[in-house]
Amino acid sequence: MLPHTLVSDERRAAAAAAATAPNGVPTPAPTPRIGLMLVGWGGNNGSTLTAALKAHAHQLTWRSADGVHTPNYLGSLTQASTVALGTKSTSHNEKVYVPMKDVLPMLDPKDLVIGGWDISGAPLANAMRRAAVLPWDLQRQVAEFLVDDAATDATSDGARAPLRPLAGIYDADYVALNQRERADHVLPFPGQPWLQMAQIRADIRGFKQKHALDRVIVLWTGNTERCVPLMVGVHDTPRAMFRAMQQNHAEIAPSVLYATAALLEDTPFINGSPQNTLLPGLQTLAQIRGVPLAGDDFKSGQTKLKSVLMDFLVSAGLKPVSLASYNHLGNNDGHNLSSTAQFRSKEVSKRGVVEDVRVAARENFDHAAGPDHIIVIKYMPAVGDSKRAIDEYVSDIFMGGKHTLTTYNVCEDSLLAVPLMIDLVVLMELFQRVKYQTVDADGFQPLHPIASLLSYMLKAPVVPARAAVVNALGPQRRALENILRACVGLQPVNELELENKAY
Ligand code: NAD
Repeated sequence: MLPHTLVSDERRAAAAAAATAPNGVPTPAPTPRIGLMLVGWGGNNGSTLTAALKAHAHQLTWRSADGVHTPNYLGSLTQASTVALGTKSTSHNEKVYVPMKDVLPMLDPKDLVIGGWDISGAPLANAMRRAAVLPWDLQRQVAEFLVDDAATDATSDGARAPLRPLAGIYDADYVALNQRERADHVLPFPGQPWLQMAQIRADIRGFKQKHALDRVIVLWTGNTERCVPLMVGVHDTPRAMFRAMQQNHAEIAPSVLYATAALLEDTPFINGSPQNTLLPGLQTLAQIRGVPLAGDDFKSGQTKLKSVLMDFLVSAGLKPVSLASYNHLGNNDGHNLSSTAQFRSKEVSKRGVVEDVRVAARENFDHAAGPDHIIVIKYMPAVGDSKRAIDEYVSDIFMGGKHTLTTYNVCEDSLLAVPLMIDLVVLMELFQRVKYQTVDADGFQPLHPIASLLSYMLKAPVVPARAAVVNALGPQRRALENILRACVGLQPVNELELENKAY
């Protein structure tokens, strides 16, 4: 017996419809029309996501030296991975797999209506070219689709206006100084956060209305900000945060303004960067309003592997003693991270990923301090978006021996991050519709607004106050699978397989 009953809105709607429909056939629930507003829309991730979804929607194909390519979703858990539902009773307990996206009704990423803000005013087609991530032949074709379907351009005869970001909140104190020349498209009211936050709220309402959307999700993929030092009376409660905004307090980051605006507009907010946007006051606001929050920092390449390898080393009974991580990259994110305060935010989120493994090791071994762990990030313009990551893991092994494992990752950073952005949005939208009921409660409840179920995609998962942080990738994925299974009435994944072991 499951301790809880979990159910999605569609399943309840379908069950109710089936109960009343004359032929007993469930009526499909309408799919909500969802908008996605990206903060940092014109960046590498934002422009790549937008162009890739347009390529899917228009079924574009493009050529490279090795042949013709079609759009795919590789790297996305929901769109390109499967879930084992159970075993066939007919053939040697062979497993049955289904695509994760088919376990429950989920939004189709190409149906997302995308918009957002950037402090750089470049239209999306130019932003995509500036990012230099997608192959040229695809860029060439997709540019004509980077237009606003809901607006016509007043200057040219009925032509669609190019997609352009809304003006963003720029505060030079939060991102690196080297971003200054990019900031040509900024909101007025500098130094007046309350007014800026009100404008972001109006932008969200306007976007929702313009595109006739049921709901909107806001996702921060802007540059990494410096962290704010937590201050009592400024960041600890919603009231303190509002007062600080009204009094033009300097320790209110732009990302906090976007997040507050989103919550006040009943719009979930996801933080894809490492800075500590999800302050205690913001988390309380999310709980008061029942609007989900998730963060921090996309867990794309190096850190994802680290959360697997550390789990492996410790589970194998070895004792990791040092972990050295070097990165160099040449995109705008790398340029911003070449500044000390912004690098510090990234260092903290990358470091945290081994924390639960360290705790697991400490329980059993004299290893309280955990492994030595250093992180180095260098800006190397020549490699562009193609990030290089070199990691060295040293572990103590049997009878005084040493084991050294070195990995070398090369990958376009944004092509790893975009599938995670898709999963974060698809799952955030789904979990807004999932309700659960405990045996002793009379009604269905929403899931906790601090959406820790999205941890698989995040380097430094923010979890409810009473919960432990889980960084290891395997358990994070199983938590997701199990909740999907529970929603369709299946037991949690269990690798006992007694049927194969019983004599
Ligand atoms: P990018 O520099 O290409 O894009 C960021 C965009 O944000 C820029 O266009 C910039 O003009 C805009 N911006 C900055 N501050 C803003 C503000 N206050 N309001 C509106 N727009 C603002 O960076 P990217 O490669 O797209 O990465 C985006 C973020 O995602 C970075 O913080 C990065 O650390 C984080 N991240 C990326 C990856 C990855 O790409 N693999 C992994 C983890 C985290």
